[in-house]
Amino acid sequence: MGLYKIEGIVLRRRSLGEADRLVTVLSRDRGKLTVVAKGARKPRSRLGGRLEPPTRFRALMAEGRTLDVISQVEVLDAHAALRDDLERMGDAAVVLELADRALADRHPHPEVYRLLVDALALLRTGPRALVPLWFAARLLVLTGHRPAVGRCAVCGTRIRAGGAWSAVLGGCVDATCRSRDPQAVGISSWAIALLAFLLDARPAAIRRVDPPASEVAAIAGLLQRYAEVCWETRLRAPAVVGRLREPALRVAEGRGPADPPPVLRQQRT
Ligand SMILES: [Zn+2]
Repeated sequence: MGLYKIEGIVLRRRSLGEADRLVTVLSRDRGKLTVVAKGARKPRSRLGGRLEPPTRFRALMAEGRTLDVISQVEVLDAHAALRDDLERMGDAAVVLELADRALADRHPHPEVYRLLVDALALLRTGPRALVPLWFAARLLVLTGHRPAVGRCAVCGTRIRAGGAWSAVLGGCVDATCRSRDPQAVGISSWAIALLAFLLDARPAAIRRVDPPASEVAAIAGLLQRYAEVCWETRLRAPAVVGRLREPALRVAEGRGPADPPPVLRQQRT
């Protein structure tokens, strides 16, 4: 039986049998793994408490016939500050679910691991409205699903006015091509600018900006629908994103603010 060590972050956990737990983790070097924590649900188990989302840990793994077994868990960061704040924890849940849905098992993705570490750090302090959206946007890019923004996903024409967003066509589409998708929704030029910013923003830039909720809402629904199409899934935990979906569509249809988002004005300084 082979042994190996991992550093990872707990994405989710569920019960297995009488006393064990199945734990899904994103490891730095081996990608997403689902492993068995033996006895983790016994009242005095120390293992159980150390494998709660979104704990970052180091552990020893033993290869099993079907599932590997985790032991000797050393907590690197329990994210206590996150867990004490329900709203921040809600955002963390969104981020963890996105990582879980986007990744296949056992495909190493160190850049995504780094992204998750950065997103959890951003959620601990400071403005956090953009963090789940930034994480979703960067995750789409890192998993090979960068949406077309500013140019039409179908014909490549630069979009000036009358642009729309189509999840199935690949992002922004121009007035001519939007007819190919009856579910395409209008998108304002500032929403396009905010999306473009998120797709390539570094963590420090996200920390500096705190746009109004309406601006965040405008793209939350668009990104969620796009991610669901790319990853062929329905997202559950984005209750935060889900709540924003209604206003998102309203604003996206052109009734939102006309000015460019402050996020972009601030970035230039
Ligand atoms: Zn086009």
